[in-house]
Amino acid sequence: MRISCVGAGPAGLYFAIVMKRRNPNHEIVVHERNPAGTTHGWGVVFWDDLLATLRNNDPDSAQAIADEAVPWSGQVVDVEGQPPLHNGGGGYGICRRRLLQILIERARALGVDVRFESEISELSQVADADLIVAADGVASQLRRHRADRFRPQIEAGRNKYIWLATTQRFPSFTFGFVPTSAGWVWFHAYSFKEGVSTFIVECAPETWEGLGLGTMRADAELRTLESIFAKHLDGHELISRDGHDNRLPWLSFRTLVNRTWHADNLVLIGDAAHTTHFTIGSGTRLAIDDAIALAAALSEHDSLPSALYAFERRRHRALARVQRDARLSAEWFENLPRYIRYNAPTFFTLLLARRSRLLKRMPARTYLYLRGHYTKLTGRAASPLARIGRRAFPFGSKASRGIFRAEPGTPRR
Ligand SMILES: Cc1cc2nc3c(=O)[nH]c(=O)nc-3n(C[C@H](O)[C@H](O)[C@H](O)COP(=O)(O)OP(=O)(O)OC[C@H]3O[C@@H](n4cnc5c(N)ncnc54)[C@H](O)[C@@H]3O)c2cc1C
Repeated sequence: MRISCVGAGPAGLYFAIVMKRRNPNHEIVVHERNPAGTTHGWGVVFWDDLLATLRNNDPDSAQAIADEAVPWSGQVVDVEGQPPLHNGGGGYGICRRRLLQILIERARALGVDVRFESEISELSQVADADLIVAADGVASQLRRHRADRFRPQIEAGRNKYIWLATTQRFPSFTFGFVPTSAGWVWFHAYSFKEGVSTFIVECAPETWEGLGLGTMRADAELRTLESIFAKHLDGHELISRDGHDNRLPWLSFRTLVNRTWHADNLVLIGDAAHTTHFTIGSGTRLAIDDAIALAAALSEHDSLPSALYAFERRRHRALARVQRDARLSAEWFENLPRYIRYNAPTFFTLLLARRSRLLKRMPARTYLYLRGHYTKLTGRAASPLARIGRRAFPFGSKASRGIFRAEPGTPRR
């Protein structure tokens, strides 16, 4: 089969790898518009489940990724004016650029033709392919050519965020919340290679405007953020490499859903098909899962239409719940004033429960009360409670709004 894969992100590269491993006779070209060695963002997190998946599908690249990954242990919540709190667990961070390098080397070793500075904006550029895989990210150009079939819907989140790095070490996944004259500003940070950590800054749009962020030159803005987070950075600097016109690239997260993921011989995978808010740290994992599922469907089915249909059916279903969780998590941060007025232990509990539909629908105190009772009655931790939001609280939005009125910081959605 002749395959054109557009986009050398995790989705496109991993698809090329698993496809070649299944059948070395496939002719696969991966087109990447950027020059070699350039990409957006810094480090990404993942967990043991991804490593297990990678080992099952391509032990060579799995080993290289495992060797490169930096473990982080536990989560820390540090709200200004209160003692920082820790809990258990752990995962890994890896430099996105290095991850892509590993996948590129592996794809080439298997015989994939990876071409840089090869932008594909028209389907006619890849017309000779039997299959066109659009792995070209959330702003996919190929998707636009069949927008009537895919019916993409993009919803921009309220909060502003920026993906920075710092030389400060964060051995735990750390959330730091700092009050300013214009409202709360916070960061999500974790180490991803020796001496470098991801440092994502987020705040409400009113705070962003109130602090004059987005109006300064990049250097001045980095110094402003460094002074806000001085206690956490301890003299280390913040680093950005993606700015244009000397401005920092602040964004609002775009949640994308498509009604369908394939049209004729064009199929969407990874962020071109769906996005999940960065606060659940899953986009790379989901992109890789798509790649594996598409390669499996193509091997299992004789005809292209039935393979693409089977792929979409399987992954669409899997994505629905993750996207719902991601939306709840994003909304939790958008409604931070509802939660941050509690003491640090309660706030931490609420932060960990941010994917709960129940928490979204009732005052935090009521949620905690029910959660406490559930634990007392069953002797089990409250995680199942977090999943039964709609059934346990089957009132419409009007009733929810009534209850919320009792609590300051009314949620917006
Ligand atoms: C702030 C932030 C933090 C994140 N943190 C995490 C995390 O911790 N863990 C995690 O799992 N995920 C994380 N993600 C999500 C993750 O980065 C994405 O979900 C993942 O990169 C999707 O992979 P992809 O291959 O589908 O798309 P991308 O990685 O976006 O790759 C698409 C590629 O296509 C190329 N391209 C685009 N258009 C064209 C064209 N016309 N022709 C040729 N090439 C083209 C682009 O240059 C790019 O290289 C985070 C995202 C953000 C925004």
